Amino acid sequence: MRRTWIIGHCRRCDEPNVYVLWLGPVQSQDHGHAPFYCCRPCVLRLEALVDAYNRRVPGLR
Ligand SMILES: [Zn+2]
Repeated sequence: MRRTWIIGHCRRCDEPNVYVLWLGPVQSQDHGHAPFYCCRPCVLRLEALVDAYNRRVPGLR
């Protein structure tokens, strides 16, 4: 899957005007859904969490 970085606002750490990557939709119980964009440090952290989840590391699920 091709990943395109754009200048925007990181939805995880709130950093404005940085390169962000669309990671998918995020759902809200009360407000519908919205695109979830993250900056490089946040993407790397989430990649580590996804990797840990898929390796079934105890305590991270
Ligand atoms: Zn961020």
